[in-house]
Amino acid sequence: MNASLTTHLSGYPRIGAKRELKRALEDFWHGRLDAAGLDRISKDLRLRHWQEQADAGLTFVAVNDFSHYDGMLDLACCLGAIPARFGPAASPLTLERYFRMARGRSRDGGAPDVAPLELTKWFDTNYHYLVPELGAGQTFQFSWDKAARETREAVAAGFRPKPVVIGPATFLALSKTDSGDPLSLISHLVPAYRDLLQSLADAGAEWVEISEPILACRRDEALLSALEIAWQGIRPASPLKLLLAIPFGRPGEALARICSLGADGLHVDVTRASADLPWLHANYPQDRVLSLGIVDGRGIWRCDLEALRSLVATFRKARGDRQLWLGSSCSLQHVPHTLEAETSLDPALRSWLSFAREKAGELSAIAREQPDHDANAAARAALTGRRSHRGVKNLEIRKAVASLDESSQRRGKPLADRLTLQREHLGLPLFPTTTIGSFPQTAEIRRLRARHRAGEITGPVYEAGLNSAMREAIRLQEEVGLDVLVHGEFERTDMVEHFGQMLDGIAVTANGWVQSYGSRCVKPPVIWGDVARPAPMTVEVSAAAQSLTSRPVKGMLTGPITILQWSFVRDDLPRALVALQLAHAIRAEVRDLEAAGLRIIQVDEPGLREGLPLEPGQRREYLDSAVQAFRVATSGVRDETQVHTHMCYAEFDDVAEAIAALDVDVISLEASRSRMEALGAVASGGIGAEVGPGVWDIHSPRVPTTGEIRGLLDRAVAAVGAERLWVNPDCGLKTRGWVETLSSLRNLVAAAQDLRTAASANP
Ligand code: GLN
Ligand code: ZN
Repeated sequence: MNASLTTHLSGYPRIGAKRELKRALEDFWHGRLDAAGLDRISKDLRLRHWQEQADAGLTFVAVNDFSHYDGMLDLACCLGAIPARFGPAASPLTLERYFRMARGRSRDGGAPDVAPLELTKWFDTNYHYLVPELGAGQTFQFSWDKAARETREAVAAGFRPKPVVIGPATFLALSKTDSGDPLSLISHLVPAYRDLLQSLADAGAEWVEISEPILACRRDEALLSALEIAWQGIRPASPLKLLLAIPFGRPGEALARICSLGADGLHVDVTRASADLPWLHANYPQDRVLSLGIVDGRGIWRCDLEALRSLVATFRKARGDRQLWLGSSCSLQHVPHTLEAETSLDPALRSWLSFAREKAGELSAIAREQPDHDANAAARAALTGRRSHRGVKNLEIRKAVASLDESSQRRGKPLADRLTLQREHLGLPLFPTTTIGSFPQTAEIRRLRARHRAGEITGPVYEAGLNSAMREAIRLQEEVGLDVLVHGEFERTDMVEHFGQMLDGIAVTANGWVQSYGSRCVKPPVIWGDVARPAPMTVEVSAAAQSLTSRPVKGMLTGPITILQWSFVRDDLPRALVALQLAHAIRAEVRDLEAAGLRIIQVDEPGLREGLPLEPGQRREYLDSAVQAFRVATSGVRDETQVHTHMCYAEFDDVAEAIAALDVDVISLEASRSRMEALGAVASGGIGAEVGPGVWDIHSPRVPTTGEIRGLLDRAVAAVGAERLWVNPDCGLKTRGWVETLSSLRNLVAAAQDLRTAASANP
């Protein structure tokens, strides 16, 4: 018998290989599925996902990684931390109540009845969690046995469960309080946590993974002492064995202190903490479990089985088999479910990849005592093939990118002089009005796309349909009275995938969906080779739009950093170099747009802020590289050509300096929900660009009144002055309907007009 190390995952994708959970949730919200139906589909998915882990040969199956919306929300419910606006503490946790916390309403149709919990990014992944809200004097009480029920379900089906629970320090550190440091609540939390662990033991679990990803970004005294208080409270009488997991980072200098918490096992993220391995090898107690997270839960590249087996062998020699476990670096929820459906991917590329189900197999292969020579050889062949594959290395691009010097990051004149020139050239009024790029992707547009994909209509018929949507959008924008128009982005399913489809070195998958939040999934492209632009990508549609109107049309592109952030990126080149290759491609597009007569070009970078590394020490380098890439992309045009960028849904304060360094002419920012707070960063951060703070929250179907918009604009004038203010919505309008779009835009134009009248009466 081939002995194997103990293996486990920190989580498996929960949405389903065919996005079954997404469909079920949306059916439930629309009243097409009842609670029993949703439960049945959910249970079915859990069983299937456990079966896949067991079939791969893993020792444990991950439990409690399932959620109807989000794990942080689940934990808040489990600990009884439900804000009062969602009903009295004692009321039962129905699905209705649960979804009201997540979405502000339990069913679709009507308006939200209450403000949902805030949604924000989970560490440096593209997953978003719900932010628990804790009141002053918050108490905690174990109040929901979801994790125990799922554990029992796994046991009953014959699996060996390892529940995964977010740790107390991470839970508190990521929560919001109205006053004070949430970590000060740690001792109140401990009894509820103890009850939670007891419930898991009663359900038949022997081990629980307590995950503390917060250690990837914070190891200050407040955090470490909160952690110590928690572990002093839960460890001594623990009814089951505790595996402390630290995904996403490197605990480094805090490692000795973390080890002295006394967990029965420690799980480290080998993809990020490899520098800690020698210390662990030498110092981690032999009588406790050391669990190596060696299979990358973030990337989609097939691993080098032999290299990982030999890394494991050094530990195996020192520790033996029993106290050494192998796992994934973090939950596999951040990669797509399986490669099986990717039948139209290039077979070579497909052989280099590994999604969740394939990763479970790799993990199992690394853990076996005897190597599987066939599997090793296949992995090796894929890796060698990848290295020498045509397009992985494009010498022409390498040379072009290497020759990008300082001058390819500089516009001609300084910003203030450019803005003067552009004012003359464009002849725009004070408070120019515009939108962010996309117009409603109506059922008609989606149907057109679906029919084209299914081969029911030809390319030319599809193009004609898109073209008529664009013409109509131009007509409507003129009618509404906007000053700077857009073509509407009807041809784009997604702002990153669209460019991924046209650039060399990038592949898009058929079914590589990853959950972003709730029922929302994204399909990140795969950057596998050197990026090159074989042909212009947006010039035809932009020029066609410009030919229909005398008003300026904005060319609309996605920036290099956002393409990088929202893709799976090759692991054989530094990210900064991939960013420059993308920038080089976008630069050519920007120039071609200018040559085609576009006087304004927008390069969107909503992903810039979220690429900020967790480790403060790595931020400078990232921001320098991001700024460099953006400047390469945008600085190849004449001074008269106006470059815009757009950013949304992020705190801008800690990147204000970098935004200033982009040297962009105009920036639009999401700002309506914070009532123009974002302008604080503009005013104080040395951003000299003209600025369009969003005055319409496009995430709601509500039509803002002219008065409301005027109110926001008055605040904006007070913050940054009238001369450099633009008037626009928060973000693109692709999720909105035309009716509310037109009403809102009419009010937006009226508010700008109002302001102009006031300004000329009162110069
Ligand atoms: N131009 C894009 C759009 O309007 C921007 C989207 C975004 O910022 N996320 O859809
Ligand atoms: Zn946006």
